[in-house]
Amino acid sequence: CGIVGYVGSQSALEVVMAGLKRLEYRGYDSAGVAVLADGGLAAAKKAGKLVNLEKALVDGPLPTGTTGIGHTRWATHGGPTDENAHPHLDNAGRVAVVHNGIIENFAALRAELAERGHALASETDTEVVAHLLAEEFSACADLAESMRLVCRRLEGAFTLVAVHADEPDVVVGARRNSPLVVGVGEGESFLASDVAAFIAHTRSAIELGQDQVVELRRDGVTVTGFDGRPAEVRSYNVDWDAEA
Ligand code: GLU
Repeated sequence: CGIVGYVGSQSALEVVMAGLKRLEYRGYDSAGVAVLADGGLAAAKKAGKLVNLEKALVDGPLPTGTTGIGHTRWATHGGPTDENAHPHLDNAGRVAVVHNGIIENFAALRAELAERGHALASETDTEVVAHLLAEEFSACADLAESMRLVCRRLEGAFTLVAVHADEPDVVVGARRNSPLVVGVGEGESFLASDVAAFIAHTRSAIELGQDQVVELRRDGVTVTGFDGRPAEVRSYNVDWDAEA
C-alpha cells in the first residue's frame, strides 16, 4: 500500500520508517523494511501497525546502512501474517523486494520457480519477483537490468522497489498501472508511492511513467523503459505544504 526507498548518507532505516509513518493514513495491515549494510542485507517485518515493527527493531536491531526500502502492506494474496509481510527475499537472502498491486500471473511463475528448485516462503504474489530478480542478477550483475527483464514477464498492476546486497548503493524501482515518485536530493535520492513520504527532505520530484524502471543512486537517477531505452525525465517542484 505504501512504499519508500532511500539511498544517501543518512541512516536509511530512519528515513524509511519516517516515510512509512507519513503514508500510514492510507491504511495497511503489516509493515517491513530492508537495509543494506556491511556487504549484506538485513530485513524485519511484522503484521499489524508500524509500532509492532518498531518493537521488533528494538528487540532485534538492524545494522546501520545508508541504502534501504520499506513497505506497508494491504494484503491481496495471502493473509496479513509476518511471513506474508514485505520485503520478500530470495533464498540466498541477497535481494529484497517490496510491492504494491497485484501480479496476475504469479501462480505460473511460482510453479516455474518451484520446478527450478526455489523454496517459496510466503503465500504472496510478490515473492516470485525476489526469486526472479536473483536469477537474472546472477547472470547480469545489474539490478536495473534484472528488473527490466523481470517486469517484461509480469502481468497486472505493480509498483516494485528492490535492493541487492551486491549493489550496495543502488535502489531500483519499476511501475505499471500503480504510482511511483522519485525525490532528488543533494547527495541522496528517494523513491515512494506518494511524495508525502519524502517531502521533509526534498521538493524536487520526478513522476515515473508507465512501464519504466528507475535506478536510484546518491548522485542521481537513471530512467529507462522496460525495453531498456532511455526515458526523458522531467522533474517538478512539489509546492504543497509539508504538513498538509
Ligand atoms: N499483492 C501484494 C500482497 O498481497 C501487495 C499488496 C499491497 O499492495 O500492499 O502482498
